[in-house]
Amino acid sequence: MTKIGLEIHCQLTNLESKLFCSCKANYREFKINENICPICMGLPGSLPRLNQEAVKKATIIAMALNCTTPDKIAFFRKNYFYPDLPKNFQITQLNIYGDTSIGGTGSVTIDNKKIRITRIQLEEDPGRLIYEGSSSKNLITLVDYNRAGTPLVEIVTEPDFESPKQVREFLNILSDLLENIGVSDPSLDGAMRADANVSIEGGKKVEIKNIGSFHDLEKAVHFEITRQESLHSRDIQIIQETRHWDDKRKITVSSRSKEEDLDYRYFLEGDIPWIIIDPEIQKELKSKMPESIISKKERYISKFNIPPQVADVLSSDKFYSDLFEESHTNDNAKEIANIITTDLMGLVDTREKREESKITATHLRDLSDSIQSGKISRNSAKNALYEIVKTGKDLSQVISKLDLGNVSDESELSEIIQEVISEEPQAVKEAKSNSQTINYLVGKVMQKTKGKADPKLTLDLLKKQIE
Ligand SMILES: [Zn+2]
Repeated sequence: MTKIGLEIHCQLTNLESKLFCSCKANYREFKINENICPICMGLPGSLPRLNQEAVKKATIIAMALNCTTPDKIAFFRKNYFYPDLPKNFQITQLNIYGDTSIGGTGSVTIDNKKIRITRIQLEEDPGRLIYEGSSSKNLITLVDYNRAGTPLVEIVTEPDFESPKQVREFLNILSDLLENIGVSDPSLDGAMRADANVSIEGGKKVEIKNIGSFHDLEKAVHFEITRQESLHSRDIQIIQETRHWDDKRKITVSSRSKEEDLDYRYFLEGDIPWIIIDPEIQKELKSKMPESIISKKERYISKFNIPPQVADVLSSDKFYSDLFEESHTNDNAKEIANIITTDLMGLVDTREKREESKITATHLRDLSDSIQSGKISRNSAKNALYEIVKTGKDLSQVISKLDLGNVSDESELSEIIQEVISEEPQAVKEAKSNSQTINYLVGKVMQKTKGKADPKLTLDLLKKQIE
């Protein structure tokens, strides 16, 4: 049986500062090597100071993944030389004197399949290497240290996945979960990365690193399974090694023999004492944990009678579920869920569009009220929404600017209905005995009013006039 395990790195992007200094955690807004200080550059004599908020956020992740949370944590130095690591060691965690990393064993169940979590650790992200030209033939490599020291959480799973598809589904759910609990924005470039280890039946464990996106991870795992199976079928031994994903050629290539923990000469970080986690703080964090995506989805279905597919989309995306939570009441919940998932989603389908979008909970409430009271049609609401997202204007302003209001003046509507009646004598005859045909006539009135006739009033008037 194929076994796949993951090491997922998630940046705590919602923090103000780096893990051990006061440089900004949001390194993305800086010019190269401008977001650095003696601590994150590892200059001699500098001392790390632990970001307490990072400890809290990492604890929340551990709790959300049902991991144990120790009352005492320790940091270790992982020694290795690489240009993106200015100190020549990374401050990370290790469970060698008992469980001293931020999260112990836990599990997540997805579609009845239990994925065990081995541990969760809090560590610093290294800097970033920038290659001039392609990575295989580059002549110049530049280093940007802005990212060095950014708070990073590593989530290690047991090899419980059996297919690339399972891996992909888990990562999608995990990234929704991390966004939902407010610790990370997975849509930011590089905020979530993952390495995988793959072994086929009777083979050795092969680690795949350097995978740029979750989409590529699925491909890399798929490639690696095929490669190992092909070797196995020809009786060629599979060696335990680390392989890199070559993004251009879409294959994995051997990079070095795998380092063992011993090679890293781990030892306790002497500049940071053992940290006692106050049980009261743990209790407080637990009590403030946001509702899980699963229970949110169940609540939407049972309380508001929202269809499961709609509830699924709505609950798993924080942007939409926050808007929904702020705007809905018992009476309009279904209508608002409908507006968000059918119309709004198409208008704000990228990060940039969401940031630029001017939509608020009040807009959604006004829109659903206006639809329910027959002031505007669903079709007009769609047009209004487009204008609102763009300009942020009040719905009433948008309705008058675009002339979207329903025709609800009886005499005006009666005239239009008379026109339709004279143009459609056959349908009028049929409509007297067939209720389906009357809908056809309503449709004709809608066409003439460009969808702005109040549907209920139109139906009432039509019934009266054809009798
Ligand atoms: Zn710094």
